[in-house]
Amino acid sequence: MASSEDLEALCAQRLRGARWPEQVKCPHCHSDRVADIRPYMDVFQRYLCLACGRTFNDKTGTIFENSKVALSAWAEAAYLLTTDEPVTVIAENVGVSYPTALRMVRELRKSSLLHILEEVARERLSRPWQQLEIESA
Ligand SMILES: [Zn+2]
Repeated sequence: MASSEDLEALCAQRLRGARWPEQVKCPHCHSDRVADIRPYMDVFQRYLCLACGRTFNDKTGTIFENSKVALSAWAEAAYLLTTDEPVTVIAENVGVSYPTALRMVRELRKSSLLHILEEVARERLSRPWQQLEIESA
Protein backbone atom coordinates (compact mmCIF):
# COMPACT_ATOMS: atom_id res chain seq x y z
CA MET A 1 0.00 0.00 0.00
CA ALA A 2 1.12 3.54 -0.72
CA SER A 3 2.29 5.73 2.14
CA SER A 4 0.24 8.83 2.91
CA GLU A 5 2.93 11.00 1.29
CA ASP A 6 2.79 8.98 -1.94
CA LEU A 7 -0.95 9.25 -1.87
CA GLU A 8 -0.81 13.01 -1.39
CA ALA A 9 1.59 13.24 -4.36
CA LEU A 10 -0.72 11.10 -6.47
CA CYS A 11 -3.73 13.26 -5.57
CA ALA A 12 -1.72 16.40 -6.44
CA GLN A 13 -0.73 14.89 -9.78
CA ARG A 14 -4.35 14.02 -10.64
CA LEU A 15 -5.55 17.45 -9.59
CA ARG A 16 -2.89 19.04 -11.81
CA GLY A 17 -3.84 16.83 -14.77
CA ALA A 18 -7.55 17.58 -14.34
CA ARG A 19 -7.07 21.34 -14.08
CA TRP A 20 -4.54 21.69 -16.86
CA PRO A 21 -4.73 18.71 -19.22
CA GLU A 22 -2.59 20.47 -21.82
CA GLN A 23 -0.91 23.58 -20.50
CA VAL A 24 -0.74 25.16 -17.04
CA LYS A 25 -2.57 28.49 -17.07
CA CYS A 26 -2.32 31.31 -14.53
CA PRO A 27 -5.56 31.42 -12.46
CA HIS A 28 -5.09 35.18 -12.02
CA CYS A 29 -4.65 36.37 -15.63
CA HIS A 30 -5.13 33.13 -17.65
CA SER A 31 -1.75 33.43 -19.35
CA ASP A 32 0.05 30.22 -20.29
CA ARG A 33 3.46 31.88 -19.94
CA VAL A 34 4.20 30.02 -16.73
CA ALA A 35 7.45 28.77 -15.18
CA ASP A 36 7.76 25.96 -12.61
CA ILE A 37 9.28 27.03 -9.31
CA ARG A 38 9.99 25.01 -6.18
CA PRO A 39 7.12 22.84 -4.94
CA TYR A 40 4.80 23.79 -2.10
CA MET A 41 4.58 21.24 0.75
CA ASP A 42 6.71 18.87 -1.40
CA VAL A 43 3.94 17.57 -3.63
CA PHE A 44 2.18 20.66 -4.99
CA GLN A 45 3.95 22.23 -7.92
CA ARG A 46 4.33 26.00 -7.67
CA TYR A 47 4.41 28.30 -10.66
CA LEU A 48 5.45 31.82 -11.51
CA CYS A 49 3.35 33.60 -14.09
CA LEU A 50 5.66 35.42 -16.46
CA ALA A 51 2.79 37.64 -17.63
CA CYS A 52 1.46 39.04 -14.33
CA GLY A 53 4.34 38.11 -12.01
CA ARG A 54 2.11 36.34 -9.48
CA THR A 55 2.77 32.88 -8.11
CA PHE A 56 0.27 30.07 -7.68
CA ASN A 57 0.22 26.33 -7.05
CA ASP A 58 -1.83 23.29 -8.02
CA LYS A 59 -4.48 24.14 -5.41
CA THR A 60 -4.83 27.88 -6.09
CA GLY A 61 -8.36 28.77 -7.13
CA THR A 62 -9.83 25.38 -6.15
CA ILE A 63 -11.94 24.39 -3.13
CA PHE A 64 -8.72 23.00 -1.60
CA GLU A 65 -6.81 26.28 -1.69
CA ASN A 66 -7.42 27.42 1.88
CA SER A 67 -8.07 24.01 3.40
CA LYS A 68 -5.83 22.61 6.12
CA VAL A 69 -7.13 19.15 5.28
CA ALA A 70 -4.75 17.05 3.13
CA LEU A 71 -5.82 16.37 -0.42
CA SER A 72 -5.68 12.63 0.30
CA ALA A 73 -8.22 13.21 3.11
CA TRP A 74 -10.43 15.12 0.67
CA ALA A 75 -10.12 12.08 -1.61
CA GLU A 76 -11.26 9.81 1.21
CA ALA A 77 -14.22 12.12 1.85
CA ALA A 78 -15.05 12.12 -1.88
CA TYR A 79 -15.00 8.34 -1.94
CA LEU A 80 -17.24 8.03 1.11
CA LEU A 81 -19.59 10.66 -0.29
CA THR A 82 -20.04 8.76 -3.54
CA THR A 83 -20.75 5.58 -1.59
CA ASP A 84 -23.55 7.48 0.23
CA GLU A 85 -21.96 7.40 3.66
CA PRO A 86 -23.51 9.90 6.09
CA VAL A 87 -21.50 12.97 7.15
CA THR A 88 -20.94 11.51 10.63
CA VAL A 89 -19.14 8.51 9.08
CA ILE A 90 -17.12 10.76 6.77
CA ALA A 91 -16.05 12.93 9.74
CA GLU A 92 -15.01 9.86 11.72
CA ASN A 93 -13.05 8.17 8.90
CA VAL A 94 -11.36 11.32 7.62
CA GLY A 95 -10.52 12.45 11.16
CA VAL A 96 -12.16 15.89 11.04
CA SER A 97 -14.96 17.52 13.03
CA TYR A 98 -18.58 17.21 11.91
CA PRO A 99 -18.77 20.87 10.77
CA THR A 100 -15.56 20.45 8.74
CA ALA A 101 -16.86 17.24 7.14
CA LEU A 102 -20.15 18.96 6.34
CA ARG A 103 -18.34 21.86 4.69
CA MET A 104 -16.15 19.43 2.71
CA VAL A 105 -19.22 17.49 1.53
CA ARG A 106 -20.96 20.70 0.40
CA GLU A 107 -17.85 21.87 -1.46
CA LEU A 108 -17.27 18.45 -3.05
CA ARG A 109 -20.88 18.12 -4.21
CA LYS A 110 -20.60 21.23 -6.37
CA SER A 111 -17.02 20.58 -7.51
CA SER A 112 -16.01 19.10 -10.84
CA LEU A 113 -12.99 17.67 -8.99
CA LEU A 114 -15.11 15.30 -6.88
CA HIS A 115 -14.77 12.40 -9.28
CA ILE A 116 -11.06 12.95 -9.89
CA LEU A 117 -10.38 12.47 -6.17
CA GLU A 118 -12.95 9.74 -5.73
CA GLU A 119 -11.21 7.80 -8.49
CA VAL A 120 -7.79 8.08 -6.82
CA ALA A 121 -9.28 6.99 -3.52
CA ARG A 122 -11.06 4.08 -5.12
CA GLU A 123 -7.85 2.89 -6.78
CA ARG A 124 -5.56 3.23 -3.80
CA LEU A 125 -7.62 2.97 -0.64
CA SER A 126 -10.64 0.79 -1.26
CA ARG A 127 -9.21 -2.20 0.59
CA PRO A 128 -8.55 -0.57 4.00
CA TRP A 129 -11.93 1.15 3.84
CA GLN A 130 -13.67 -2.12 3.20
CA GLN A 131 -11.95 -3.49 6.30
CA LEU A 132 -13.18 -0.48 8.26
CA GLU A 133 -16.72 -1.14 7.11
CA ILE A 134 -16.50 -4.76 8.20
CA GLU A 135 -15.18 -3.76 11.64
CA SER A 136 -17.95 -1.27 12.26
CA ALA A 137 -20.73 -3.60 11.04
ZN1 LIG B 1 -0.76 35.64 -14.50
